[in-house]
This record gives sequence, structure tokens and C-alpha cells, in this order.
Amino acid sequence: MKTVDLVVPCFNEEEVLPEFVRVTNQVIATLPEYSFRYILVNDGSRDGTLSVMESLAKEFDNVKYISFSRNFGKEAAMYAGLEHTSADYVFVMDADLQHPPAMFPQMLAEVSKGHDCCALYREERKGDGGALRTGFSKLFFKLQNSMSSVKMPYGAVDYRVMSRQMVDSIVAMSEAQRFSKGLFCWVGFDTKWLPYENVERTIGTSSWSFWGLFKYAIDGITAFSVSPLKWIFVIGILMLLGAFGLLLAWIIMAIVAEGGTVVPTLCGIFFVGGIIETSLGIIGEYMGRVYIETKNRPIYIAKTKNIEKNEK
Ligand code: UDP
Ligand code: MG
Repeated sequence: MKTVDLVVPCFNEEEVLPEFVRVTNQVIATLPEYSFRYILVNDGSRDGTLSVMESLAKEFDNVKYISFSRNFGKEAAMYAGLEHTSADYVFVMDADLQHPPAMFPQMLAEVSKGHDCCALYREERKGDGGALRTGFSKLFFKLQNSMSSVKMPYGAVDYRVMSRQMVDSIVAMSEAQRFSKGLFCWVGFDTKWLPYENVERTIGTSSWSFWGLFKYAIDGITAFSVSPLKWIFVIGILMLLGAFGLLLAWIIMAIVAEGGTVVPTLCGIFFVGGIIETSLGIIGEYMGRVYIETKNRPIYIAKTKNIEKNEK
């Protein structure tokens, strides 16, 4: 019998977690040819998520959990979960039932056919913020795909099933500033993309702020591409050419009209200043990344858990 681990990051999900397990168990019951296990990761929730996990673990012996000492973020939670898996197939999904477990049979069918991974992208962003958020989200996917060698379809979500081999190669990448959407693509392998219809969150609230998503997008771009650094060089060259042009114009003006004006000079100063400032900002972003990465800190710290690595 093939084994399946379900990695579920949870942050303040006490309300939805019992419902999540109940709904998922119904789907599991229709798939007797697989043996399922939950790996719930409590990402430093401030509500009763941990005690819900503990009582679920008492009720069902296929419920395992890892509980962090504080909130380390969804990326760290996914990493901790993946690191503790040992099954043939591994799912990553949200706890809020926005990633319908009803997709299991279809997704498992794809990996048993021989795909290394089956991932979902949403067709519609129903109930997921206004037009502004959708617009930025589209822009992000465009930028990400044009700037880095890692390509992903628009609307790709963190709901997927992967083969053991693919999970092992993701766990082997121990970088601290994780951007899983990119990492899943970066490792390669053969991914089957399936569309699904986005479900509105009915219990609890989304914990992402607009600013949080913006930072997430910057992470995604800088983690997989150094092209902003190349732009700086190109802009620098263009500016040098521009400066030579201006110098020439100034000389001609001085000869023909006897002197230029102060305003264009001021404009120039602001322009050059702005460019330098922006460039420094971009360089700073990468420098910061190098700085964080060289610290080599653990990605998460678990306080309690009822599962060991490589436990079957
Ligand atoms: N999550 C987490 N740590 C965090 C924020 C979120 O583990 O710091 C989990 C959360 O419990 C949920 C998933 O990540 O299972 C997606 O979070 P959410 O529903 O808030 O995001 P959205 O669906 O809006 O992208
Ligand atoms: Mg959600």
C-alpha cells in the first residue's frame, strides 16, 4: 500500500482545524488503496490551535503535529512539515479548506500515472480581495516569469502532491529565505498543473496583509533572479551617454546663446540622485539577503512534537 503524508501549516486555525480533519477524513475514506497521515504544523498560533492538534492526535492515531516556539511564517512551517515526511507521496495544503481535499483522487491519479508532482492553480480569485489585489498578483506573476528562469502559471497556489524524490530534493535546499512557489519549480521534475475553482474562506480570516504580500513578492523575485542587478548596469550606461549628450548641448548653448539656465541642472541632479538611490536600494536588497543567509540560522524551532524525522 502506498503511503501519503499531508503537510498542513496552521496559524491561528483552532476554529477550522477539526472541520478540516473531518472533511479530509471523508475523502480519505474513499481512497482505501492509500494510507494517509497528517503532519500538522502549528506556526506559533496565539489561539488554541495546539490543544486542538493534541486532542485530534488523541482521537486519530494518524494525526501528527509539530509546534513552533513562535510564529516563523508559512514557509518555515511547510519546511518543517516536509522535513518530517517519509511517505511515498506528500501533499502540501492550507488548513482553511480553501484547498479542497476533494481534489485528492484526481491529484493522486496524476502522480500514480508517473508525474513527479501534481499542482493546482486557481482559475478565478473569487473572494480574495479586490481588483487592486488581483492586479498586483497578475503583475507579480508576469515579473517573476519574465525575470527568472523559474516559470510558474498565474494563480499557482501552495496546494500540491509530490513524489518522495521531489520532496527530498526540496528539503535538501536549506536556504533561510524560502519562497516555496519558486523552489517547487526550481527543483525541476515533471509537474502536472490542474485548474481548480477558488473556494472562499468560510471559517477564520486570512492572515496576509497587503504589505505582507508585497514583501512576499519581493522575496520571490530576488530569491530567483539577479536581473535587477543587471538593470542597474544598463541604466548606468544609458545615463553616461545622456550626460555626454547634455554636456555637448551645454557647450553648444554656451557658444550660441551665451549660457544655459539653472533649472535643467537642478533637474539633472535630482534625476541622477534618484537613479543612484534606487540602485543602492536594489543592491541593498541583495546584500541583506547575503547577510541573512550567512548567519545560517535554523529555519524554525520546534517546542513540542509527536513525530520524529524518518518516522514511518
Ligand atoms: N499560515 C502559517 N503561518 C503564517 C500565516 C499563515 O502557517 O504565518 C498558514 C495558515 O494557517 C493557512 C495557510 O498558511 O493554513 C494559508 O494562510 P491564509 O489562509 O491566511 O492565506 P491565504 O489563503 O489568504 O493565502
Ligand atoms: Mg487561506
